[in-house]
Amino acid sequence: MATPKLTLAVHKLTSCSGCQLAFLNQGTALLDMLEEVEFLHFIEAGIEGPEQAVDVAFVEGSISTPEDLERARALRKNSKLVVTIGACATSGGIQALRNMADGPAWQAAIYARPDFIATLATSTGVAEHIKVDFELWGCPITVEQMRHFLRQLRLGVQPRPEAEKLCMECKRRLQVCVMVTRGAPCLGPVVRTGCGALCPAFGRACYGCFGPSEQPNCDSLANRFAGLGLLPDDIARRFAAIHSHSVPFREQSRRWQSIDVRELDE
Ligand code: SF4
Ligand code: SF4
Repeated sequence: MATPKLTLAVHKLTSCSGCQLAFLNQGTALLDMLEEVEFLHFIEAGIEGPEQAVDVAFVEGSISTPEDLERARALRKNSKLVVTIGACATSGGIQALRNMADGPAWQAAIYARPDFIATLATSTGVAEHIKVDFELWGCPITVEQMRHFLRQLRLGVQPRPEAEKLCMECKRRLQVCVMVTRGAPCLGPVVRTGCGALCPAFGRACYGCFGPSEQPNCDSLANRFAGLGLLPDDIARRFAAIHSHSVPFREQSRRWQSIDVRELDE
């Protein structure tokens, strides 16, 4: 007897829609995939059914508005597994930079009628609000990550997170280290792998699309950045980028924001 197809939903909260392209960018491989899965909700592919019960709900986007929160709670009830995809859904994304700022002051400066803006005080990852079963980090996630996850589910294997450091991948590819040879402030020692160490291959430092790795020693790396000559504010900004609200990067960013440059000379 044929194995029943996995039923899937792809939901979008506050995001740019880029991670959903991991499904659509497969080209003809998407047709092969449809032999094994069935999408019951995927607006970007023209399939609408946000309240359908599914085996796996993929969620893109952060919880930034009251509507995001309401929809996240609803999809949790309708899904056996909830899987967050991308930086926004896993750690709040670029928009979480506002968590470190005075949001109402920004709104008043930008909008003629800020009272029309319905937003929460923070932008946060989905797991801060509902139970999440698995996280696919990345900005954006890759086709391979998504396919690997689904393959494990189909084979009845417990999916395992990829949290190895980017440096490991960089070294396996025999790339020259941009931090050692050029003094470039590369986040590779604390960032999880996933991109194939793309930027060091082109001679530039990594700025952390895939979020914190396993056991990231951010204190040590930040001290190394200071040794390379970066000022405290520059170090804070290295960590306050794509995954600024992830715990290790947030802590490091706050630490260096609070350091006066004169303290480094003492
Ligand atoms: S270039 Fe970056 S990722 Fe590669 S080994 Fe050096 S620090 Fe690690
Ligand atoms: S910034 Fe880092 S994680 Fe992003 S593509 Fe470049 S090397 Fe990969």
